[in-house]
This record gives sequence, structure tokens and C-alpha cells, in this order.
Amino acid sequence: MSQSIEHIDPLSLSHIGAQCYHARLIRPSCKLLSLCYMTLSDIHGPSKLPYMKQWETSLGVTPTLIEWEQAIIYTKQSSKCVTLWEAYFKMLMRWYLVPSRIHKIYPNSPSICWRCNSSLGSIEHIFWHCPNLQHFWKAVQTTIHAICKTTFPLVPEIYLLHIIPNLRDIPSRDAVLNILVAAKISIAAHWKDTKSPSLKEVLGRVEVTYHHECEWAKGGNGSHLLNRWKNWESFKDSHATV
Ligand SMILES: [Zn+2]
Repeated sequence: MSQSIEHIDPLSLSHIGAQCYHARLIRPSCKLLSLCYMTLSDIHGPSKLPYMKQWETSLGVTPTLIEWEQAIIYTKQSSKCVTLWEAYFKMLMRWYLVPSRIHKIYPNSPSICWRCNSSLGSIEHIFWHCPNLQHFWKAVQTTIHAICKTTFPLVPEIYLLHIIPNLRDIPSRDAVLNILVAAKISIAAHWKDTKSPSLKEVLGRVEVTYHHECEWAKGGNGSHLLNRWKNWESFKDSHATV
């Protein structure tokens, strides 16, 4: 089960199977028997985890558990690179030591954003709401539209958490998810910088990932997975900065 579970479509599982799947996904070190016991003994069914509830409260959104699971599963499937999974999970878990959080630990440390110097430096502000990032996220939105011909609304649940309607069916899904991960990595890479990262940096990171995915596909049975990148090639050929 532990070797093949990433390749299972959770939507096709029975209710109890879906519960097991979710429990395995969010507790990857859990042994199979413990997982089954824990799932069978959970009479209330799967429930949202604390970090999910925190995001829902701070953003004022209420995705379904299936939407949360899809975001996590498909992002994890979008690359073999553990560093990219880690970057996404850092965001999900609200891991970053943003100014508002540091201020609670060290009251003498300023709680406002270092970039705009005007608003509380919460994780939502540092990665999304800061006015100095608005052009950056707009450029990311335009890039995604160019690749998958879909305009995703500029809302943080999509760009930060990957809770995207019909995510499973969007064209070039892996390219889109890797752009979103690369955007957040680029913001984190410029920590304490007053300027936003450039789109060129994001696309450069995505191209490195695409190169690695191609190399991986050559050595095994993963060539069909490159279908989920199919518009990236034509996009980068027409985009001088990649
Ligand atoms: Zn700011």
C-alpha cells in the first residue's frame, strides 16, 4: 500500500478507502496496521487538520476536504523533487517566521512588513497581500493563462494553497503547480528584500524542474507524465526570458 498509494485516485476509493488514503497522506510515517486501526476507530470520519482550519479562518474560505486533498496530492505528484514538496508544505503548515510571529516571541522586533513598511507582517501579507507583490502575482497569473488558457482569479487560496477548482482536469497541471511552488520559493528566497522577485526567476526555477522531470522520465516509465507539462515547451520557446 505504501509503495503505490501516491498513484491512486482518491476520488475513486470507497469511503473507508478514502479515509485511509487521507490518513496515510498526512501521516506518511504511520504503519499500515496502525493506519487501518486509526481509520476504522474514527467514527466521525476524516476531518480537517489544524493548519487547514487556520488558513480557512485567516482567508475566510471553506474548501471541502476533497479540495484540500486534491491540492496536496496533485502538488506532490507534480514533481519528484522533495525540495519542492517541502516548499509547498512549509506554506501549508505556516512554517515561516514572519514579522508578526517573531514579534510575539521578541516584542522588541517590529511586527510590520519589511517590504511595504505599513502593514502587519503576517504570513498572508508577506506572501500575498503586500502591495509590493501585486505586480508579481499578476505576472504569475498571466503566465499561467498563457500555458493552460485558463485565468485563475487572483485569490490566495489558489496561488498559495493550490486549492484550484477542477485541478485534476486543467491542462498542463504539473507546469501550473510548479509555477505556483516556484513563485513562493522565489518570495522566500528574497526574505527581507524590499523588492518583489522577478517572473524571470520563477520561470528559471520551473525550467530547472522541467529538465529534471524530463531526465527522470527518460530513465523509466514516466514519459506519459510529461503530458502534464505539454504546453511548457511551447511557452518557453515563445518566452525570451526562460
Ligand atoms: Zn508589505
